[in-house]
Amino acid sequence: QTCSDLTKLPKQRVRQWLSSIESVICDADGVLWHFSKDIEGAVDTFNQLNATGRKTFIVSNNSEIARMDMVKKAKGFGIQIEEDCVLTSSYSCAYFLAEKKFQKKAFVMGEYGIHHELEQLGICSSKVSETLERPIHEFVADLKLDPDVGAVVVGRDEGFNMAKVVRAGTYLLNPSIIFLGTCLDAAYPIGNNRVIVGAAATLAAVKALTGRKPLVLGKPNPWMAAPLLQAGVIKPETTLMVGDTLETDIRFAANCEFQSLMVGSGVNSLKEVQKIIEEGDPKKMDLVPDTYLPSFGHLLEFLC
Ligand code: PLP
Ligand code: CA
Repeated sequence: QTCSDLTKLPKQRVRQWLSSIESVICDADGVLWHFSKDIEGAVDTFNQLNATGRKTFIVSNNSEIARMDMVKKAKGFGIQIEEDCVLTSSYSCAYFLAEKKFQKKAFVMGEYGIHHELEQLGICSSKVSETLERPIHEFVADLKLDPDVGAVVVGRDEGFNMAKVVRAGTYLLNPSIIFLGTCLDAAYPIGNNRVIVGAAATLAAVKALTGRKPLVLGKPNPWMAAPLLQAGVIKPETTLMVGDTLETDIRFAANCEFQSLMVGSGVNSLKEVQKIIEEGDPKKMDLVPDTYLPSFGHLLEFLC
């Protein structure tokens, strides 16, 4: 397995390769923007891919905001995109339950994005505001469960507390209750040696309490691309996945048999890729991207 640094290849070869790409799937954070700031050159590159006849999509593990808000955020930076071209890990969970013709309610441990996508696909979410004003054993002894709940969906949750973990875990003691997770992202570095806790932490608490393993439907699960693949909107062999994180984006590309481009503007670096190649562990070869660029903006020169 090798990774081609596109800055070191003859431009004509890169142009030729790009001309075979019909669809481009972009990760959001680390490729297009860093939280509230767009990454230099990314907006123009995205729009140019679109203007040159490629289908363009944003596929993000961010479960917090609804797809329509991700569209607003992208448009705010000048990215031309509509909601049907945005997929999130919340949508992936909602789509999974909808495809299963799930008729019950979902208990959500997460943010508004999950509730919203479930409701968009006709699935009610149980809304209990959890605060722990009493000793935990009293709370647990009086805990009333909603008999209509048939699934627990766990994502990154800023209102994470003991009461929610207990409620989620108690539902899951019933093995017929479906256990979904949005993604396994552990932490998002925000620079200056500071990190934001991802969904892996909330999931870890519920997993530890119940001993159950969630079905995690964000990247790298190929299910994340199901809405596009099932509708025949994209073909794997002519689709390029652009991402900054090896464990989520590049493994996702491998799982879906997409081509992959790793950019160095986010979580992982080319050095880490080189180390994986040198170590040669077969289990890690899915983490090696096909191609590399320092940032998505570097692709623009090959498109003009
Ligand atoms: N989830 C949350 C809550 C985030 O804040 C982020 C990145 O900022 C992500 C997920 C990762 O999103 P992406 O897949 O777009 O990198
Ligand atoms: Ca990312």
